[in-house]
Amino acid sequence: MTAMQGGEGIRVPDGAEIVGQVGGMPRLWVSLPADEDGFIGMRCPKCGEDFRLHNDDYEGLPESIWCVYCGLSSHKGWFETVQQHDRFLVAVRDFGAQVALRMTNGLSPDGEILFGGRPYRPQPLPPIDEERLVRVRNCGSCRLRYAVFGQHRYCPACGQLPAHIVAADALDAATDRLDDLTRRTGAEAKALREQGVFDQTRTDILIALVSLVETLAKAIDGRPVPRRDRNVFQRLEPMADRFVDAGFADLRQRVNEAIWQRLKVTWQQRHLLVHNDGVVDSSYLENDPTGSAKLGQRLRISDRECRQAIEDTRHLCAAIAALKTP
Ligand SMILES: [Zn+2]
Ligand SMILES: [Zn+2]
Repeated sequence: MTAMQGGEGIRVPDGAEIVGQVGGMPRLWVSLPADEDGFIGMRCPKCGEDFRLHNDDYEGLPESIWCVYCGLSSHKGWFETVQQHDRFLVAVRDFGAQVALRMTNGLSPDGEILFGGRPYRPQPLPPIDEERLVRVRNCGSCRLRYAVFGQHRYCPACGQLPAHIVAADALDAATDRLDDLTRRTGAEAKALREQGVFDQTRTDILIALVSLVETLAKAIDGRPVPRRDRNVFQRLEPMADRFVDAGFADLRQRVNEAIWQRLKVTWQQRHLLVHNDGVVDSSYLENDPTGSAKLGQRLRISDRECRQAIEDTRHLCAAIAALKTP
């Protein structure tokens, strides 16, 4: 029987192989084909969200990897997608069936495992057809190539991403959202506009810009913030003052004057959108450097303004991140 414990007589489908033995039992290996971009899927066992990794980078990964979204750190083998699991299961079932048949009936004179009088033929492995990536990301520290399907905070290999990388990524995502809307045409674009999706997207982006600057500035500053100053990083001048007080360079001099003035408008617009549904009030009018706002009028952000705000914020984020690099 010893000879029977190996892979003798067992047939495996294309894409699977018997590779050596563990504890006297043959060991099965199942390939995970990469998609056309060379990427394979990963699903976090905790949050259930998917991300993708470049197949060539997978082997070099540490044993334990991070979920890009929730930060779970676990053995990479646990990050299995449903389709990968199904593919593996098909191979394992066929393999198990053949081991059982061989134990019961032995091998035919031709060395085959028989089932119903005929040689056993395993099922082909199901192909993998998962959601394709949108954009390849390259970790700035470890160069790992990966792709995500939402806002992420971790590199699968090195964990928590630096705040300025998260900010730069969110800015790219904001531009992608605008581009996506611009691509819509005809009836679809009309319907989306009517539903307020265009306006809402620009409003959401403006609000997100301020909060991503706040997160980045807090991380770079690193000092505890007294309760009365808890919104200090939501306001440009107080934020710049706070950095100056701590001995950092003056942000107002690090981004050029025109950008700083436009940022101030963006920050005021965001304040109005969050606190007054975008309806121009007297305090907004007092500070309105454009001089074009009218009392009681509702603010509308154009695509051009929104893109400009994203680019200006990109300059600001770079300046904030550079405060800590001499
Ligand atoms: Zn997760
Ligand atoms: Zn990394």
